[in-house]
Amino acid sequence: MPKDFILALDQGTTSSRAILFDASGHLVDITQKEFEQHFPKNAWVEHDANEIWKTQYSVAREVLQKNRLEPKQIKAIGITNQRETTVLWDRKTSEPIHHAIVWQDRRTASTCKQLREDGHAEAFQQKTGLRVDPYFSGTKVKWLLDTVPKARERAERGELAFGTIDCWLLWKLTNGHTHATDVTNASRTLLFNINDGRWDTDILEILDIPESILPEVKPSSGHFADCFVEALKGIPVSGIAGDQQAALFGQACFDHHKAKNTYGTGCFLLRQTENGALISQHDLLTTLACSTDSTFKYAIEGSVFTGGSVIQWLRDGLGIIESAAESEALAQSVSDNGGAYLVPAFTGLGAPHWDPHARGTLCGITRGTSAAHVTRAALESIAFQSRDLLEAINADFNDTIEELRVDGGAAKNNFLMQFQSDLMQVPVVRPQITETTALGAAYLAGLAVGYWSDRDTLAKNWAVDKVFEPAISKDAADAQIARWRQALERSKEWATD
Ligand code: ADP
Repeated sequence: MPKDFILALDQGTTSSRAILFDASGHLVDITQKEFEQHFPKNAWVEHDANEIWKTQYSVAREVLQKNRLEPKQIKAIGITNQRETTVLWDRKTSEPIHHAIVWQDRRTASTCKQLREDGHAEAFQQKTGLRVDPYFSGTKVKWLLDTVPKARERAERGELAFGTIDCWLLWKLTNGHTHATDVTNASRTLLFNINDGRWDTDILEILDIPESILPEVKPSSGHFADCFVEALKGIPVSGIAGDQQAALFGQACFDHHKAKNTYGTGCFLLRQTENGALISQHDLLTTLACSTDSTFKYAIEGSVFTGGSVIQWLRDGLGIIESAAESEALAQSVSDNGGAYLVPAFTGLGAPHWDPHARGTLCGITRGTSAAHVTRAALESIAFQSRDLLEAINADFNDTIEELRVDGGAAKNNFLMQFQSDLMQVPVVRPQITETTALGAAYLAGLAVGYWSDRDTLAKNWAVDKVFEPAISKDAADAQIARWRQALERSKEWATD
């Protein structure tokens, strides 16, 4: 067994994980703990930041103990995290002043509506690359300052600190010595100007957020701090990135020729720009990709709300499959979808349609429609939605990609991957290691301490599991896309609330 490793802390929306990687980028071991989701009101989602820390620290300790490793055998730690989730804490006591407000939380919808009505949307997009939406941290910070008793006064006096989850973990790992984040996480706050790489004073003023609460922003790869906590004492934290950007890096998508799509609960498609910020004309987000020095890298990002979770619905809601994996064989038991198209707009539609009132729709069913057809339509819907993202991204870039690299739970499904390639008319490539988010964080950390020498070494580590080449003609793909479009139209603007 090799002597030294990189440790990735992968802090997700439902669980905290610690993953050990060796120099060839192989996953050596993994530990994981789930934590509680709090839903205090309809569309509100919170986490206990202390519980996040406790679970994250305990899985890190466990993975070292299990493998009988001393802290000195860990050359560096890389953090990757659920993005946008917002924590405000007291600098002296390190106590959060409120539960963390999670990215999914919609409590600031009316604030965002007001900001849009006041005509701020375009300036916010130009400066931050984002839409004015409750998804991002900025209005969540404002809500905390406006709502928690005395919060604003304490913030003005410099007593409070704000951070996304990476920043909170770094604070705890260093016993409150380091208050910093990386560019990818900063770019999801709605407060960071991605053009000049600073917290934007105009936006801070509009949202009434004092600059004193904000962390220092650093490149994603580089020395952040050394850990103070006992079990990890002295290990440098030298990589930080938000989960989707970390996955883009872990997939070795270092230029604009490739893109990556993650098929988890939702789908996230990211493509790095050729040079500089590209503000989307097609309702996508511009975001900062991982940087290994002070120069900025930009990416265009699109996301689908209901991706792999439509398969969970087949399992838990309809009961027509017992496991997600079964969906592959069931879909292949019929020769086509039998004319059935499912639009899984269960919580509205994300990019590029952005219709919060759209709802799930199943079109074209007949007396002959079977569970197999519905399952096939469900898997196809993941691919159709991802293809809509790629079309919008390509329209922004004015060209297409050479290949799509895939990861996430549903990327295991061969039927889905083949159909994705057919629709997109590009090769879809699944790597051997699909834990690309954690791998990306490990790469960022390892690069900074010389564990890996450069990006070329990382690109060489990346190994293919399976390539799916388009197996139908473009005309045949277009015909199916046209039918999908019709179904999509029928799902829009359905909800009346
Ligand atoms: P997340 O990180 O968002 O929790 P994962 O990457 O773990 O998601 O992927 C889980 C999702 O993938 C679930 O929604 C599940 O339904 C789906 N999934 C898992 N395996 C398969 C499969 N073989 N075919 C289709 N979908 C699958």
